[in-house]
Amino acid sequence: MGLADDLRKPPSRPNSCWAARLRSELVGEELEAFEEAVKLVVANKGDNYRPSKGGATQAWLARVLTDNGHPIGYRGVSTHFKGQCACGII
Ligand SMILES: [Zn+2]
Repeated sequence: MGLADDLRKPPSRPNSCWAARLRSELVGEELEAFEEAVKLVVANKGDNYRPSKGGATQAWLARVLTDNGHPIGYRGVSTHFKGQCACGII
């Protein structure tokens, strides 16, 4: 174990971003609502953590998902919406 071992084990799932994982887990109405929420966040240009900003922010999305059993940190949400995650599909 340790750094050398970890460096020799790249992740086996390249598309293991939280959004890709959710899209593979959610079904039906929940999946539809998730996709709608993603569009709202993009349309809202909610790319910064601004709790005072109303509407669909990334912070809002992270909180709603976490409160409903899908714990996701704001940083992970932000990485996805900046296109810096592995999934590449916003
Ligand atoms: Zn992603």
